[in-house]
Amino acid sequence: MSNWYECRLVVAVDDEDPVTAALFEMGTTGVRCDVEGGDAVLLAYFDGRPSEDALRQACREYGVSPSSFSVRPLSGDDVDWSENWKLHFSPRAVGDRFHVCPPWAPEAPSGRLALVINPAMAFGTGQHATTRGCMILLERACAEARIDIAADLGTGSGILAIALAKLGVPRVIAVDNDPQARESTAENAQLNGVPGAVEIGTDIADIAGPVDLFVANLFADLLVQLAAGIVARCRPGATIVCSGMLEHDGPRVLERFAELGWAPCATEVESPWFSVALQRRIP
Ligand code: SAH
Repeated sequence: MSNWYECRLVVAVDDEDPVTAALFEMGTTGVRCDVEGGDAVLLAYFDGRPSEDALRQACREYGVSPSSFSVRPLSGDDVDWSENWKLHFSPRAVGDRFHVCPPWAPEAPSGRLALVINPAMAFGTGQHATTRGCMILLERACAEARIDIAADLGTGSGILAIALAKLGVPRVIAVDNDPQARESTAENAQLNGVPGAVEIGTDIADIAGPVDLFVANLFADLLVQLAAGIVARCRPGATIVCSGMLEHDGPRVLERFAELGWAPCATEVESPWFSVALQRRIP
């Protein structure tokens, strides 16, 4: 008997990203999105019945109320739904340097670095605007300065830490408080041939610092809360890359970093998401 459930939501096309983030927060193993008649129709798969109230609440927290919402158990013991959705994880170019692809299609076009990510259980397949925003800003930071040691707080699948290792950073400390994410990061680092460069930890305390580059793709509230801990782990000339905030949350995150003496040097907006690179202001 299958224990898989499919949640179907219909939202405005502009709401696809925030709803996808809400679904991952609620533990979906994968989301497929099709545009039908001007609406985005999302199908999210869950191993075990998700709470409908909690799903609706998570959508509300992202400012979205779906025009249609349903949850149904999936039948058909012959179909592995946890695998089925992977068909919709398609390889894609990100920034100028990367080609993010699944292990079953691991080749990159010439001139791009293959970033092989098994989309099994952790967030970070390059299908989300915040991940892409960070990757673009990381590419730039690595082109502009020599990075000997970097930190990735909330590494998820390990995608950003592995991207840094592929850009030549010899040591990246990747931390996540979710054990499944740490497992995925170890697996993905191996898949990309960079296990020696990626050190895995549990939380910010595992980042001794000082680092040359700090990336954190989290949520606005958490960025505000952790800002002091982040800057304390950066050397003066370092770059901090932050994402995970909606555009309208950007100002209060920037305000907190400004209080600590850090100012934006580059931004990436893929509406409604906002990513930023910061550097310490010269006093
Ligand atoms: N870096 C990836 C994943 C971002 S999702 C990407 O850019 O795609 C955010 C991740 O942060 C999740 O895996 C979550 O488990 C982790 N996380 C959330 N709060 C955290 C905390 N306080 N300490 C460490 N990890 C945290």
